Amino acid sequence: MTKRSKKQINRPPRTSQRSTSQRPVAKGTSSKSSIQKKTPRFGKTIYFFGDGKAEGDRQLLDLLGGKGAGLAEMTKAGLPVPPGFTISTKVCTRYYTNGSKSLAAIDSEMNKHLKHLEKVSGAEFGSSDNPLLVSVRSGSKFSMPGMMDTILNLGLNDASVEGLKDRTGNERFAVDSYRRFIQMFGNVVIGIPKEAFEHVLDVVKKKCNVRADNELNAKALRDVVRRYKKIILKETQQAFPQDPHRQLRMARDAVFSSWMNPRAIEYRRIYNISDEIGTAVNVQMMVFGNTGNRSATGVGFTRNPATGRNEFFGEFLVNAQGEDVVAGIRTPQPIANLERLMPKTYAQLKRIALRLERHYRDIQDFEFTIQDERLYMLQTRNGKRTGYAAVVIATDLVAEKRISQKEAVQLVDPESLTQLLAPVFESQSWNLLPVIARGLPASPGAASGQVVFTAEDAVTWAKLGKSVLLVRRETVPDDIHGMHVAQGVLTATGGMTSHAAVVGRQMGKPSIVGAGDLQIDEAKRQLTVGNQTLEEGEFLSFNGLTGEIKVGQVKSQPSEILQVLSGVLSPLSSDIYQRLDRLLKWADRYRRLGVRANADLPDQALVAKALGAEGIGLCRTEHMFFGEGRIPIVQRMILATNEVDRRKALDELRPLQRDDFYQVFKKMEGHPVTIRLIDPPLHEFLPKREDLMVDIARMESTNKYSERLEASRTVLRRLEQLTEFNPMLGHRGVRLAITYPEITEMQVGAIMEAACQLAREGRKVVPEIMIPLVSDVRELQYQKRIVERVASEIQASFGTKVKYLFGTMIEVPRAVLTADQIASESQFFSFGTNDLTQLGYGFSRDDAGKFLQIYQEKKILERDPFQSIDKVGIGELVSLGVERGRRTNPTLKMGICGEHGGDAASVFFFDTVGLDYVSASPYRVPVARLAAAQAALKAG
Ligand code: PEP
Ligand code: MG
Repeated sequence: MTKRSKKQINRPPRTSQRSTSQRPVAKGTSSKSSIQKKTPRFGKTIYFFGDGKAEGDRQLLDLLGGKGAGLAEMTKAGLPVPPGFTISTKVCTRYYTNGSKSLAAIDSEMNKHLKHLEKVSGAEFGSSDNPLLVSVRSGSKFSMPGMMDTILNLGLNDASVEGLKDRTGNERFAVDSYRRFIQMFGNVVIGIPKEAFEHVLDVVKKKCNVRADNELNAKALRDVVRRYKKIILKETQQAFPQDPHRQLRMARDAVFSSWMNPRAIEYRRIYNISDEIGTAVNVQMMVFGNTGNRSATGVGFTRNPATGRNEFFGEFLVNAQGEDVVAGIRTPQPIANLERLMPKTYAQLKRIALRLERHYRDIQDFEFTIQDERLYMLQTRNGKRTGYAAVVIATDLVAEKRISQKEAVQLVDPESLTQLLAPVFESQSWNLLPVIARGLPASPGAASGQVVFTAEDAVTWAKLGKSVLLVRRETVPDDIHGMHVAQGVLTATGGMTSHAAVVGRQMGKPSIVGAGDLQIDEAKRQLTVGNQTLEEGEFLSFNGLTGEIKVGQVKSQPSEILQVLSGVLSPLSSDIYQRLDRLLKWADRYRRLGVRANADLPDQALVAKALGAEGIGLCRTEHMFFGEGRIPIVQRMILATNEVDRRKALDELRPLQRDDFYQVFKKMEGHPVTIRLIDPPLHEFLPKREDLMVDIARMESTNKYSERLEASRTVLRRLEQLTEFNPMLGHRGVRLAITYPEITEMQVGAIMEAACQLAREGRKVVPEIMIPLVSDVRELQYQKRIVERVASEIQASFGTKVKYLFGTMIEVPRAVLTADQIASESQFFSFGTNDLTQLGYGFSRDDAGKFLQIYQEKKILERDPFQSIDKVGIGELVSLGVERGRRTNPTLKMGICGEHGGDAASVFFFDTVGLDYVSASPYRVPVARLAAAQAALKAG
């Protein structure tokens, strides 16, 4: 091959979208010839499968991707898999470090495997007599449904299409395959928009006076092929490539390029998948589901992925090709119909699918093609499922003795448990409205919001704080960002395995698909059902569990689990509650980390405990100050100009706080309760400055003088004194208590009175008094003296002893560095990773939102460090604090109470640094329990 033609082949795809999203050429790789000279051989890169043998298996998941590993494993198990080979993810990584160009070494290795494939298949690439056709499909380690590109029927050209016709005796099929190939190749590889091809198809359909593609005869399809080729020529100034080897190289590189297309990048961002891992490319002999009515293609699940029910589940289309099913263009038939149409093939498919489930010990999501009643398996992978289904499947597999309890604990994604706590509709308001349409219940949950018709609008409206429902004729992978922010997703076409359904389920987003009665005019931004038309912005509600759609806004109510916890529903009447409870109890047997909750009020404490919290890790006492009727007292305390007046206001607050503490202790029934003394700057308890100024101006314009006006002026003066440039770094935390020790006296007094009262009633209480924002051991010593004095006074007055702990938050980097000194005055540490992240990075918690998203888009940060702990930096601070603290105080109890305590990835990290517990917000306690168990099991 000449140098020139090589260059043409390796030319990056033409769309500007794709080229802008490609990674920059790595340093030192800009010159192709120097790369080729310097690049050492990099070992095995292509893995063959076929004829009952395979070079790879699931152990090579990283290299082969999910699809490649599954194909290899199925081949080895003797299942009917068309032969082929997998180009490993290593090549993808090379492709990018080589400036989005393939290396010549890959081409020659690929040719060797092609030769082998020809031998095994008995067909020849490019032959006009017996042509070998292949599919070229992506497949990374983590499944990314619909995000990357696929090319089918590759190997067809003007000569081989005639060979295919002669061999099959089916001209229509042969020419249809060719037009599909040119269309896919033109779009995916060359970068011509889909619409150009669809337009041609519409013109020819009109000319032939038919409505559906499959009504076009061979002659009409030849016309389509001719017109398609013209488009290619016009767009590229070159004829459609006839050399199958060249087609294959171009297709392979286009699939590698699709790894960095915007939707794939967005998908990885949402699911925290690294860009570095790359995709494999699977080249596999084509089998055809479009040879006639004895052929079909479909996808299925061994269990229902939305509800978890143990039922064979799937969909298929007769006389269709692979992508038709998932693309959601035609609504497929349920798999049960296959039993009627082709009973033997159905039975074989079911047998194989169940065998796969037993082999992989998890629900399988499989793809198949039936060519003239002969079944071929094209893919199997662990199925994506809703949180609800995940719990049902894991507990069922244990009950069926297919997996152990330990495996069940590892089978459920901890984050997905939050879906079980998501609200459902209030049945009364829901039942009042008539059902206007029904669709397929793709992902459960109650969704209510204003209708929008594009993903972009969903994002814009959501940014304005609106709840939106994304309504589309069908969703395409490019809609991912809109789906992410919408309350729910509704489509008019597509089946349970269409893109909207698969992605909706994975996101735990309520979704209904295939609601055929909806007529959606995306251009006019209108939705019509029967004689009712809804404009953009009108309210719609739907239930993703039943598939019912209604016009209007409907209030939601707590989920079934929460209804059980609050006593509205009995545990015995809720199957899902019992299953979750079982699963989490299994998890508790394996975890090492304790799990507590951040709860400030008695009812929150109750929910947290019911969800399995073993204590309160953070009770933010200032939240009690915001309780009804308390703000005026707090304001009096703040406005006081002398200690006497301040103490008067504090005396009023004391019994109110005591009652709160009493209730929280009581609800926690002897579990430890960590109470943090006041933390926020005082101005937060005063009215907003702007509001006050408006009020004052209004009063000044109407009355000359009034008591209210004078009072407002006083508040404004005090507010101005208290206002800070950087309140997060200002007069807050322990600094307040050092300035006004009487606040500490009041709070400790209230805590100890409540505790002594309960002790007197014969109840167990374990108070832990915690000082916030400490940076110097002397701050802690000062506070400790007050705490000890007040605590012993109260105990003496009650004549009772209550054991309490004294400790501190570690949330300032200096506290970490001096943790050895601080530990000598503490009985426990609780890492405040919210402030530690703020102060460690120097990112204001209040302002970082403005740039963190851009940081993530520009790949400077992978995740928002306020959501998931930055292991390398802030995590290292935690680790250092643990180590230094234990150095002087080996019995120190250690936990973490920042938001990260409820983030599964962070919990995995905290397990490794030797903390005793994590404390999460009440609804995330189940996530933390399961994540902690998985972390311990992973550590072994
Ligand atoms: C923290 O900083 O992590 C913390 C729990 O305290 P707060 O969020 O109240 O500042
Ligand atoms: Mg804090």
